[in-house]
Amino acid sequence: MFDAGITYEGTVYRPPSEAHSLILQATIGCSYNRCTYCAMYQDKRFRQRSLDELRADMDSVVATGGARAVRRVFLADGDALIMRTPRLLEILGDLKDHFPAFERASVYASPQSLLTKSVEEIAALKQAGLTVYYAGPETGHPQVMQDIAKGVTPEQFVEGARRVVDAGAKLSVIFLLGIGGTDLSHEHAVASAEWCNAVEPRFVSTLTLTPVPGTPICDRIDRGELVLPGPRGILAELRTFIEHLDLRGAIFRGNHASNQLPIGGSLPKDKQSLLSLLDAYIADESLPLRPPQSPHSL
Ligand code: SF4
Repeated sequence: MFDAGITYEGTVYRPPSEAHSLILQATIGCSYNRCTYCAMYQDKRFRQRSLDELRADMDSVVATGGARAVRRVFLADGDALIMRTPRLLEILGDLKDHFPAFERASVYASPQSLLTKSVEEIAALKQAGLTVYYAGPETGHPQVMQDIAKGVTPEQFVEGARRVVDAGAKLSVIFLLGIGGTDLSHEHAVASAEWCNAVEPRFVSTLTLTPVPGTPICDRIDRGELVLPGPRGILAELRTFIEHLDLRGAIFRGNHASNQLPIGGSLPKDKQSLLSLLDAYIADESLPLRPPQSPHSL
């Protein structure tokens, strides 16, 4: 991450694939901030930063000699896409003005923010450089999505996410293994695959739910209302998810630190080899899994 000269407000999160991007806090916190498993922005009151503040950050990077190193920019925090389109276009224009090597920007996309944008707006934003959207449906199952308080139905989330795909921008989506508990493990996996099939994202990732103390989902687990699958149960859930995926051209990543069996590949090309690997690990409990390494981050 480039941070030359920029003072960030609170903890800043970004997708793993944005490790080499300049992080620009276009907004602080998350305007929704109600998902029951998410602790990322609990300590922040949501606000949009002014264009003057953002230009000051860009000027700081320029002043420290880092301007030519900025090719990619991640617009933080939790859902900068909630900003109105003209304002986003202005920020993207400022990025081009400040950084001669600027190639593209990316952003987290909550369903609420996606549904504020038309296909035409997303296409205009893409034209201006906002080309990658990271969304976290976490599940495609209606009951599970309601339980984790995403604030929309799977169908509404499909509608918002499809706008990104239809506008020709890149969509990366995340699903959380274990989030339906043992009761809805199979249904969560099937419905999540069907959600993907309806949206056709370019990138699909799976993380394993790692409950964060103090979150509502952690309280449900402590009360025994949600029982998480064990490591082999998680692999069986992942197998069901991949089995039901029917994507024409996607990259699957299951190598997040929270996953005890790091796997990945291209779909549909590698589907059978992924399933065979999972079958081997599900059948033979003596095959070693790595310990979970870090809490969930979107
Ligand atoms: S998961 Fe995303 S939309 Fe939900 S509260 Fe966290 S940052 Fe906001």
